[in-house]
Amino acid sequence: MSCPPADLKKKSDELLFKWWTYLKSPDFEPFVEFAVCLSSFSDFLQNQGLSGLHQLSHQLEHKVLALFDEADQHQMSVDSLNELCTQIESLGVRVTHFIDSNSRPMEQRRETQEAGIASSLDATQRVWFIGNSVSSWRALMTQLTYFGIQAEPHPLQGVPCEAQEPSILLFDTRDLALASACDHIQALRTRFSASKLLVYSQLTDFNSVKVMLRAGCDLCFAASTPQSTILGRIIELCSNEEEPPYRVLVVEDSPTASMSIQRTLKQTGIESFAVANPAEVLNGLRQFQPDLVLMDMYMPDCTGVEATRVIRQHAEFLSTPVVYLSGDGDMALQVDALRLGGDHFLTKPFNPVFLNAVVKSKIERYRALRRSMQNDGLTGLFNHRTIKEKLNAAINEAASSGKQIAVAMIDIDQFKTVNDNYGHPTGDQVIRSLAWLLKQRLRKTDLVGRYGGEEFLVILPGSDFNQAFEILDRIRVDFSRIRHPFEERWFKSTFSAGVSHFPSTRNAEALVNEADQMLYDAKLGGRNCILTRG
Ligand code: GH3
Ligand code: MG
Ligand code: MG
Ligand code: MG
Repeated sequence: MSCPPADLKKKSDELLFKWWTYLKSPDFEPFVEFAVCLSSFSDFLQNQGLSGLHQLSHQLEHKVLALFDEADQHQMSVDSLNELCTQIESLGVRVTHFIDSNSRPMEQRRETQEAGIASSLDATQRVWFIGNSVSSWRALMTQLTYFGIQAEPHPLQGVPCEAQEPSILLFDTRDLALASACDHIQALRTRFSASKLLVYSQLTDFNSVKVMLRAGCDLCFAASTPQSTILGRIIELCSNEEEPPYRVLVVEDSPTASMSIQRTLKQTGIESFAVANPAEVLNGLRQFQPDLVLMDMYMPDCTGVEATRVIRQHAEFLSTPVVYLSGDGDMALQVDALRLGGDHFLTKPFNPVFLNAVVKSKIERYRALRRSMQNDGLTGLFNHRTIKEKLNAAINEAASSGKQIAVAMIDIDQFKTVNDNYGHPTGDQVIRSLAWLLKQRLRKTDLVGRYGGEEFLVILPGSDFNQAFEILDRIRVDFSRIRHPFEERWFKSTFSAGVSHFPSTRNAEALVNEADQMLYDAKLGGRNCILTRG
């Protein structure tokens, strides 16, 4: 969690200002402005990982959405108004409390991040294990330290009060009845605004999970969940990968409508690019690379449906979501539009909160689909095809900007023995550990894919042989120190790597071959080492 307190304060002041503006003139327009601002605030809290605060603002958002009515009949009852005031106030109190108690250490953290540490892992990530049988988590706690995550056990009655919030709380509720577990979850949720609250419970029936989630936890693990799954989830939550902003291409002939749409999208942090002429839509798609197209239904010489048909002739845009904007509610036309490859219909004048919600949910699903096509199921890294595409793209980029790239092929040593001695599932776990370590230790700009079974291809843009060696050798040493648990024992594993370099070697195939050759030499030379020609 690296939210700068000043940003949080600015956002929360903005929200209060919109609320006061509405209270001064309680009309529909300022209400919509407040609702859009609240939705943007909720997104901000979620993106910053402020889980507890996000839950509160999300509840408030729900209440506000339920109060949406028509522009000409907007009137809020005194009860609703009072209820909103109370909720906004308690959100404000929690935000202020969080800013007060986290200000200084967070700023220090930011400075260290900006100093350019070659890792996407926040050096101060901490996990607290809370419960009365903390000893059963000892192995997991040790595993976490290999990935640079600090783990501390705390008995339920001894959770420190004044300490800075950890990134994650794992609350073991196995010895508690449901009601008591929920009380503690609620208390922890109120005390910790930024921490993700994970619950480990033997209660897995629908109702128990429902009430524990309602009490405020973010994730429920059944007591049968293997510790390796929990480890993976914790590492994922700590790795803080930031999603790039959502991008929308607006195809709309009316400049006023276009400006209003772009303004609405911008308020919730969505980037957009507008084309007024539908003939420009393909250029717009290629240049802007949007996650979604907002398509006006009626434009001169071309309907939105016709423009969508043209888009769908191009394989690369077959799955790009298209949401139509239309001035009327003609049902037959809407059905036609949906049949021809549209994803949703919004009627103008649009409700800005609803527009943003539709756009976001479509983009989330589109990105999830894209991820499942590009990423490997076991490790979450890019799959073979995607990492090769990324290599080609990186070479083109480097060639045009005159930059260099290092390429490494990594292969786990004597992996057949791991499978033979400990079984295939344990082997899988070793593959996953290396994947996590690579993802955490490499820079955000580096790319890593699972090239084959226990082989990984790493692309280090801007690096020469020496820099690549330095980065990879540090990872090699750290990997060799990991104790992989097996039954009551543990074992260690190592990897070897070969490195090639662009422009010393000029095309993708030759770069991979060269890295492979160096890897082969590293294996011959005794393994557990990195070889480069440089
Ligand atoms: P070397 O040091 O020479 O690399 O020896 P090695 O035993 O690792 O040899 P090699 O790289 O050829 O062996 C790869 C082994 O990895 C063979 C295969 O059974 C195993 N393997 C491939 N994919 C997977 C997987 O997804 N999971 C598991 N557990 N094993 C896999
Ligand atoms: Mg139009
Ligand atoms: Mg291999
Ligand atoms: Mg191997």
